[in-house]
Amino acid sequence: MNDDQTKDYLEVVPEDDNNDTTDEKKNTEEKICSMCRRPESVAGKIIEMMPGMCICQDCMQKSMNEVKNNPFDLGSLLQNIPHMTLDLSNLGGFMPMTDVQEDTEEPVKFELKNVPPPHKIKEKLDRYVVGQERAKKVVSVAVYNHYKRIIESEKEKEEGIDLEHPHIPDPEMEGVEIEKSNILLIGPTGSGKTYLVKTLARLLDVPLAMTDATSLTEAGYIGDDIESVISKLLAAAGNNVAKAEHGIVFIDEIDKIAKKKNTNQRDVSGEAVQQGMLKLLEGAEIEVPVGASSKNAMVPMKMVNTRNILFICGGAFPALEDIIKERLTKESSIGFHADLKDKYDDDPNLLMKVTSEDLRQFGMIPEFLGRLPVITTLEDLTEEMLVRVLAEPRNAILKQYKQLLAMDEVKLDFEEGALRAIARKAKEKKTGARALRAIIEEFMLDIMYEIPKDDNIGQVIITEAYVNGTGGPRIILRGQC
Ligand code: ADP
Repeated sequence: MNDDQTKDYLEVVPEDDNNDTTDEKKNTEEKICSMCRRPESVAGKIIEMMPGMCICQDCMQKSMNEVKNNPFDLGSLLQNIPHMTLDLSNLGGFMPMTDVQEDTEEPVKFELKNVPPPHKIKEKLDRYVVGQERAKKVVSVAVYNHYKRIIESEKEKEEGIDLEHPHIPDPEMEGVEIEKSNILLIGPTGSGKTYLVKTLARLLDVPLAMTDATSLTEAGYIGDDIESVISKLLAAAGNNVAKAEHGIVFIDEIDKIAKKKNTNQRDVSGEAVQQGMLKLLEGAEIEVPVGASSKNAMVPMKMVNTRNILFICGGAFPALEDIIKERLTKESSIGFHADLKDKYDDDPNLLMKVTSEDLRQFGMIPEFLGRLPVITTLEDLTEEMLVRVLAEPRNAILKQYKQLLAMDEVKLDFEEGALRAIARKAKEKKTGARALRAIIEEFMLDIMYEIPKDDNIGQVIITEAYVNGTGGPRIILRGQC
């Protein structure tokens, strides 16, 4: 078959072709660009590069420019194509062998003097995360211990080869091995679990990879392989293995991989994922693809040891409160001091009383819980805390809007009542602080649109009535402010 014939074969469905309905469907369905997701009717001519990978001419041009400007990073460019999993081996000659950026591998040396003590870590977290005092304290201590443990184990490794200055162990301490302090964060949606971890990684300046437990499946099933998160961490560390090995992995929605109750089928996205994560959490040598998300003959591989990676898991664990309540009620109804049955119904601190046993009841397997020795809870944000989230953190939403308008030389202020009204509306949505941005964006749209039109405006005050939709903002002209 010459080239022209091949082209015809790809584009034309012969009428008397066999009855293969899937082929027919493939050829009659409109092609969609794998990069921008526009259909052919919108994007114009789409070229099928290989089965399952179509590219419109705009995206093709963009890719070519990208390759021209950055010829050695095609691997990561392709990895950025959303909506598709790429099998890089299909690219054949199209794929330069040097697809991954060179890894500098400068040794990462942790010294205790460079790791801030717990109170300093918490102080820094305080600048961003409102409330959650206990969680911030627990995490600060766990992280400090974690890095102390790394320093200790690296010191031992070094001393092992230092024949001139052999390490003489303190007999009291001999054999004491500091356990890994992986953390489990339990708290409702929008209470700041992810935000806490992101802030932590930023202030410690360590790479962070985040994944959603719901997307993970046991190796060999559809979904992300459990080990793929280490590949993400390596990418976040700029392909520097040593850096990745000191990083943080955050696995969100961990409650979604609870053991399924009463099921006869193989639980590939629940208990099996917990099982599959055990060695990762504890410490194992994992071979991960560099610059891609799937293992494949064309992709270079690197070994990453997860022993010093800090794993933080987070989840909302709905219905956990019922389990705790049931246990507490059962405990307190035994003996002379039997409590009232509904004593715990309105206890706001119920979640704080969680034990491993409660989590086991919820569906987490004991081996998994054993590898997350630090458990802490985050509280549901109150209206008052939501007001603080609006205004206090370093990068608070209100500060961001104020700065945007300051660039137009307009002062933006919010009445106390307006802040409370926003917090009240957010609270009704029951998604914690997540709802705040959407609420503010809704009423700030008109302000951001109208104000730059009029040079005379010097100040805008957002009133409670404006937030509630019963009045307007107060506008003050220049010279009257
Ligand atoms: P989740 O607990 O569901 O992981 P997130 O951490 O994703 O919640 O919170 C969503 C957003 O809400 C964050 O990006 C952050 O801006 C804000 N937020 C949530 N909790 C807090 C908090 N305690 N302090 C400051 N901001 C917060």
